[in-house]
Amino acid sequence: MIEPTTTCPCGSGTEYISCCKPLHEGILPDNALQLMRSRYSAYVLNLPSYIVKTTHPASPQYSVNKFAWKRKITQFSQNSTFQKLEILEFKEKESLATVIFTVFLTQNEEDATFTEKSYFEKINDRWLYRGGQLKNGHAPNMVTTAEFKLLPLAYYEDSILRRKADPVNEITTDIKNLVEEMIETMDASDGIGLAAPQIHHSIRLFVIRVPIETENGGFDAGDVKVFINPILSNFSAEMWKASEGCLSIPTIRSSVERPREITVNYTTLDGTQIKEQFSGWAARVIMHENDHIDGILFIDRLEMEEKLRVKPILQHLKARIHDGRAL
Ligand SMILES: [Zn+2]
Ligand SMILES: [Zn+2]
Repeated sequence: MIEPTTTCPCGSGTEYISCCKPLHEGILPDNALQLMRSRYSAYVLNLPSYIVKTTHPASPQYSVNKFAWKRKITQFSQNSTFQKLEILEFKEKESLATVIFTVFLTQNEEDATFTEKSYFEKINDRWLYRGGQLKNGHAPNMVTTAEFKLLPLAYYEDSILRRKADPVNEITTDIKNLVEEMIETMDASDGIGLAAPQIHHSIRLFVIRVPIETENGGFDAGDVKVFINPILSNFSAEMWKASEGCLSIPTIRSSVERPREITVNYTTLDGTQIKEQFSGWAARVIMHENDHIDGILFIDRLEMEEKLRVKPILQHLKARIHDGRAL
């Protein structure tokens, strides 16, 4: 047990009782940096419930199986000797923030130090841990001087996701800047497609990273392609099924049946009109994103059995994101 007069493990130099303790007991942190520090001290003090409570449902660490998840956190805490936390960078813009930090620790007497660029999102006044990119060791080179370009995502049950989006009339500087921010947001979330309504702009525009198909039937993220006012046609009669996910509906993945090939007429960012054929994963991603600008979500396209399976997960997600309800 930690004594009330002990210095806080987060390294703030102040006492635990007036630092991370109130946060661990339910007071909301003022900013993402405070959350970051209190999550670190929760790992040190082995408080798995706090980690679970402050993890965004879209985080890759998020698990519906709370019991197994908490056990994993406890194992990590118990097998680690935490030396210190070093904050390298903190950036915040409205409901989004990034923190780059190094955690100095040992596991089984071996150095297990890592640097992480974490990404935080504020939902209903609560900052949540969204995910992060990891590097082994102390990696101050992860610090960036680039501008903060992440955009807040619209999540399941946000009405903008159900609107039929308006055409883009002119490719203005604002549109070009928006596309740049969309690409950064897509990449930060590890997505391979993002449509404008997903970042609260009801316009007919989406970006993808053209999937490069791999031998095992999967894909890697390829180059970026921007689609403005796309029109899909020539849907092949041949259909195929594959598992899809969506940045607006975190934690849910399900198999969707779609045509194998399509033709797309679209405008590029420099205003060129293009007619292009796509097949396989590229066609699938384009159809998924094109659905977004028509107000359709991939969960609408599931078979009845799958719809029933994901229903409780959707309800859980809704409660978590829109009502800000704790677990
Ligand atoms: Zn603290
Ligand atoms: Zn989507």
